[in-house]
Amino acid sequence: MPTEPAIRIDNLVKRYAPAKGANGTVTEGKLALAGVSFDVPEGAIFGLLGPNGAGKSTLINILAGLVNKTSGSAHIWGFDIDQHRRNASRSIGIVPQEIVFDPFFTPFEVLENQAGFYGIPKALRRSEALLEAVRLADKRNAYARTLSGGMKRRLLVAKAMVHSPPILVLDEPTAGVDVDLRRQLWELVSELNREGVTVVLTTHYLEEAEELCDRIAIINHGRVIADKPTRELVDMAREKIVAVTAAADLPAAPAHAAFAKVEWDGARAVEVTYDKDRLSAGQVLGILQAQGIEIVDVTTREADLEDVFVELTAAAPDSGG
Ligand code: ADP
Ligand code: MG
Repeated sequence: MPTEPAIRIDNLVKRYAPAKGANGTVTEGKLALAGVSFDVPEGAIFGLLGPNGAGKSTLINILAGLVNKTSGSAHIWGFDIDQHRRNASRSIGIVPQEIVFDPFFTPFEVLENQAGFYGIPKALRRSEALLEAVRLADKRNAYARTLSGGMKRRLLVAKAMVHSPPILVLDEPTAGVDVDLRRQLWELVSELNREGVTVVLTTHYLEEAEELCDRIAIINHGRVIADKPTRELVDMAREKIVAVTAAADLPAAPAHAAFAKVEWDGARAVEVTYDKDRLSAGQVLGILQAQGIEIVDVTTREADLEDVFVELTAAAPDSGG
């Protein structure tokens, strides 16, 4: 039997309602999602990566049932979010981008209230264990308003896990969070994942996605512009390019087993893409010269993941309305 993805997003479109200005002008509603499709494999730590305004929160909020989609469909743990909203909601825990708490509840009460919301009988609640898991056991009875920002984030993770969902979604969990705390959150997320929870996190930090996620979808202007195993995205960044101009037209594109890719314009220009862990630019030039090519001009380019990201996001047209 083929296994279903933990989340399936199919051609999801969201256009927000038109906004009316004070002077009576109406601006067209923002097209936040312009037909987004991707699958989150079960057991993955999946990164939804994109700059501010890309549409990440809109997508998460549709999954959470907080924003109505314009068209398209989404399945959570096999449940269509329209037809089986209840089961879909029970299968997912969401840590929102904004921290909102009633400041007068204690962490223990926050979790108990949430359990009550899901109708979990007292005997089956696991508030203590969750506080333990997010290292807040010693803050069990403190007022939420006395918690640090990082503690609040951790409490939100515990709150999202109250109903033991198989999927945990974190919307920008480490935005504005210091390095130590980011580490702690990453460890917590990895730990939950090791226990079998499928994790989706949105971020605009590249290193975060690279370090944590098995698979990354890059979204920009409401469109998916890449959706690959992290390894493949990083591999794209390990490549380097040497562009050479030969003294005379070449009879054919030069070839060598160590080259990853060769592009030839049919005349004097050749671009060789190679893995910088395997070759150096000097070796590439040596190979070309050994094949009898007289080189009159050379330029090199190098991509890291940041470049790949910038390149991909720059290539996507702005579809905003
Ligand atoms: P991200 O989370 O990737 O930063 P968002 O999903 O928050 O992106 O926003 C995507 C686009 O939709 C942005 O242009 C944003 O201004 C717009 N947007 C978000 N929420 C609303 C809303 N409630 N009404 C109108 N436009 C919105
Ligand atoms: Mg957001």
